[in-house]
Amino acid sequence: MRGSLRSSALRAVALASGITLLGGASAHAAVDQKVTASKAVAQSCHARNLNGAAGTQSVTTTAPDTGLIRARLSGGGDWDLGVFDANSGRFVAGSASFGSNELAEGFVKGGQKLVVQACRFRGDATSADLSVGFVKIAEKSTGKVQLVRVDTTRKDKDALQSLGLDLTEKASKNSVDVVLHDQADVKTLRDAGFTYTVQVADMEAQSKADRDKDAKFAASNPKTQLPSGSNQYRHLADYDLEMKQLAMRYPGLVKELTLRYKTVEGRTVNGIEITQNPQAADGKPIFLQMGVHHAREWPSSEHAIEFAYDLLTNYGTSARTTDLVNTTRTIVVPIVNEDGFNISREAPHAGLSASFGVFDYEMKRKNCRVSANTPAQYTTGTCADNPAGRLRGTDPNRNYGGIWGGGGASTNWSDDTYRGDGPFSEPEVLNVRDLQSTRAITNLITNHTFSDLVLRVPGVADFGAPLEESQYKALGARMAAHNGYANLPGYGLYDTTGGAEDWTFWTAGSLSFTFEIGTIGFHPPYNNGVVDEYLGRGQTAGAGKGGNREAYYEMLAATRDQSLHSVIAGSAPSGSELKISKTVTTETSPVWNNDYGTDIGPIQTFQDTLEYSMKTDGSTFEWNVNPSTRPVVAGRDGRPATGAPQADIAVANPAGQPAENTGDQLSGAHEEFSFDVQGPPAVDNGRMTVHIDWGNPDTDWDVYVYNQAGELVTQSASFGDTTEDATLFDPPPGRYTAVIVNYDQIDGQPYDDWGNGRVDFESPRPRTETGIKEAWRMTCRRPDGKATTPLDVIVDRGGRFDASAACATTTGRR
Ligand SMILES: [Zn+2]
Repeated sequence: MRGSLRSSALRAVALASGITLLGGASAHAAVDQKVTASKAVAQSCHARNLNGAAGTQSVTTTAPDTGLIRARLSGGGDWDLGVFDANSGRFVAGSASFGSNELAEGFVKGGQKLVVQACRFRGDATSADLSVGFVKIAEKSTGKVQLVRVDTTRKDKDALQSLGLDLTEKASKNSVDVVLHDQADVKTLRDAGFTYTVQVADMEAQSKADRDKDAKFAASNPKTQLPSGSNQYRHLADYDLEMKQLAMRYPGLVKELTLRYKTVEGRTVNGIEITQNPQAADGKPIFLQMGVHHAREWPSSEHAIEFAYDLLTNYGTSARTTDLVNTTRTIVVPIVNEDGFNISREAPHAGLSASFGVFDYEMKRKNCRVSANTPAQYTTGTCADNPAGRLRGTDPNRNYGGIWGGGGASTNWSDDTYRGDGPFSEPEVLNVRDLQSTRAITNLITNHTFSDLVLRVPGVADFGAPLEESQYKALGARMAAHNGYANLPGYGLYDTTGGAEDWTFWTAGSLSFTFEIGTIGFHPPYNNGVVDEYLGRGQTAGAGKGGNREAYYEMLAATRDQSLHSVIAGSAPSGSELKISKTVTTETSPVWNNDYGTDIGPIQTFQDTLEYSMKTDGSTFEWNVNPSTRPVVAGRDGRPATGAPQADIAVANPAGQPAENTGDQLSGAHEEFSFDVQGPPAVDNGRMTVHIDWGNPDTDWDVYVYNQAGELVTQSASFGDTTEDATLFDPPPGRYTAVIVNYDQIDGQPYDDWGNGRVDFESPRPRTETGIKEAWRMTCRRPDGKATTPLDVIVDRGGRFDASAACATTTGRR
């Protein structure tokens, strides 16, 4: 989900009250010792208490306070961790990374007896270092935690702030959402003369109801029709353990992959590669399938790992799967943002009221970075217990370097869409950059929740569509035919910058998409958000069309399609090592200095080195790569005009003034006007813009445009300026209706109506091909050690380059 920027101005307000809730956290080192096991047993360490079985050593400890347990293990080989309630045996925390760099973190009650279980999963290391610490989290609540919307029309927000209540980040000009933890909070608010409406009467209950639904579903469905049979949301340790188990079960098809950078909390990020003979450095085209950039978007990683199971369980029985696995390589990285995911996933549902205080653990979106411009008082504590709560961190999907730093990402460290201190400042994003820079990934899906969307580049409308637009859009449409989502460029919602596709495509050349899965929340009940969405069942948009499962297969088929990437082929002695590389300079957006685009600095640049290698096997080779020329420099798609555009239409503001409406634009108060759009042969409109403006930047009007079928075709709902421009490219002829909503007026000021309205038409932009051609620098190291001549390889999308000369021996000395 792409977060709104509306509330960013008030984030700092929310924090001011938050700091008092959590109090000082203190760490206790309860355990610090060696654990040993004479034998390795490949078993789950976090599924249950193994009571001292072979391959394990346990330590018992007692939580001194209510808060967090943090068990860390380090050493050689592959050791894992599980933490359990000593009495009930219930899971508390787990860690099952590929090596022995483990952090198991979960929530505990004061006085709770715990078993910390260390397990030697595989490898030669007979011992490892275990340390266990606790972090106290202050409990506050004595009753139901409710979320209320406090009316600030008559009394100002400074007064509300001074009450010391738990203000949330959700606010409008005339209201602030506040968490009331107990009756004392209610009394404080009323005594100060504030009025409010209840938004959620019992926040913990609402979330718990979803998880109860999940528990009931799991109990009555021991095995679902998902490829793995999974029936509930996995924990972080489940992902790592299952990937290790898949690698052991299918050694001829699966290779483990550990990404280069550790997370802020020190975790290792893992994935698997799936193809026939996965250890070979072959030249197959690569599909990268990712989940959980955003911590709370649990279905996104479920989808990613289920596709891995799909390929592996159907290999050898389904001809389609077998053929695709043999001819492509799929890399699955289910959890990009491990730190954030663990906090969101392990959020307590009872007993720890802090769960819905300033922290709101379950709704954490970002990673764990303390950004450089965080005020000192918010920099203390662990990620799961710090004075800024869930607001600490950078949005990994606003931190990619391509067109980083523009609109649709926040400059404010505490905002949910904070872009980070610089392009590629975050380890999670550096991991993806490193992967894409060292492996010739031709196709990519980054999964998110929610909104039923298949999104492609560009994130910003004015950036323009790539020369590949028709192929790119058609591939999106083939996938959307299965999941039933809308197939749009990223800006189809509104402009965003620093997203994954705008670097992986424009710089590295891979056909990249964002999936926004589902319609009913960040992590809805499992049966809907995962089982139905994956399989295309139930109430989902992909019901009866194959769902995301078939959309992913569509992407894998496109990965194999050589007309969608580039091929370098030729003859070379078997066992030759081939390498292609290029070093390029990538530009950010002109970098915004505030969230409103009223202070914009210069473009920044950074260097990318893309370097790929393969080893030949046989006398000829075929290497699937991306085009040698970056799409960003190649040109932009467009078309010639077949006539002049339609004349602009002036719009008069209808009589009267609609009331403020922050709800549904059609059923709530609004104004509207209709207009006719013509088409060929009379005119040729390449772009239509519905424009309104007004006086004061603190007033907020929004525009929504519908076609005659009543479908929303474009909108503009920005904040903090005096114009809205809703844009539609190549508008089909017909009658349209613009709906104008009065989102916000300024307190105590004269009514600020929108004044000038206009519908503008422009000719299409012609296709521009710059003619710039970039080359891959290709080298060959022959098995016989003879010198070869480096080669410049220029190859376009769909093209094929004969590079036999690269491994031919040089004539004479060089
Ligand atoms: Zn997301």
